[in-house]
Amino acid sequence: MAEPAPHALALDPGPARVLVVEDEPKLAALLADYLRAAGHEPECVADGALALRAWTERRHDLVLLDLMLPGMDGLSLCRQLRTMTAVPILMLTARADEQDRLAGLELGADDYIAKNPFSPREVMARVKAVLRRSRAAAPAVAAPRPAQPALQIDDRAWCARWQAQDLDLTPNEFRLLRALAAQPGRVFSRPQLLGELQGEARPATERAVDSHVKNLRRKLEQAGAGSERIRSVYGVGYCYQA
Ligand code: CA
Repeated sequence: MAEPAPHALALDPGPARVLVVEDEPKLAALLADYLRAAGHEPECVADGALALRAWTERRHDLVLLDLMLPGMDGLSLCRQLRTMTAVPILMLTARADEQDRLAGLELGADDYIAKNPFSPREVMARVKAVLRRSRAAAPAVAAPRPAQPALQIDDRAWCARWQAQDLDLTPNEFRLLRALAAQPGRVFSRPQLLGELQGEARPATERAVDSHVKNLRRKLEQAGAGSERIRSVYGVGYCYQA
């Protein structure tokens, strides 16, 4: 048996739940012992029907599959598993037959190990290699985005941004949005919002609030915030929805 390359030893793919499909109890127990010793969690089943049920229920990380099984043979089981999943499958067989090897690989087995002579150490090395390959190929889980609110109000710069895009607000639009967004879900009456407005050329009316809100909505919508960010509450006023 070839020793695994040094880098293979360094990059331990970590523990895996392994489904062992093997009808010879001694061999199944031996494989389970080696798997446990390597930190894995084995589950042994003795035929294809049990294997399909176990995999469907528990979605193991790897399947170690004996080719010669009572009932459904290993190749049929491999074909069936491949219709359901891309789980790594390692085939074991007593017959070191080229024909079987090719059939197994064509049906989607990831690797193929002869049982004669049987080397549990080689099985473990292959388990590790297949796991490492499958884990390297698995799409990386997207890192969670930092929790940054979509709407950012910069009081110092008098600037509001949606997803980092400047909303380009007038000072009164900015004041209204700042007040509304400071308390998402709270309904503000028109008189309350009017109190936020300053510097209007002529005395502001409640209609001015409506007009500023209309412009705010348009700017928010153009920035991709949707049209319902500032909700009208009939007979009362407006509310910001986070
Ligand atoms: Ca067997």
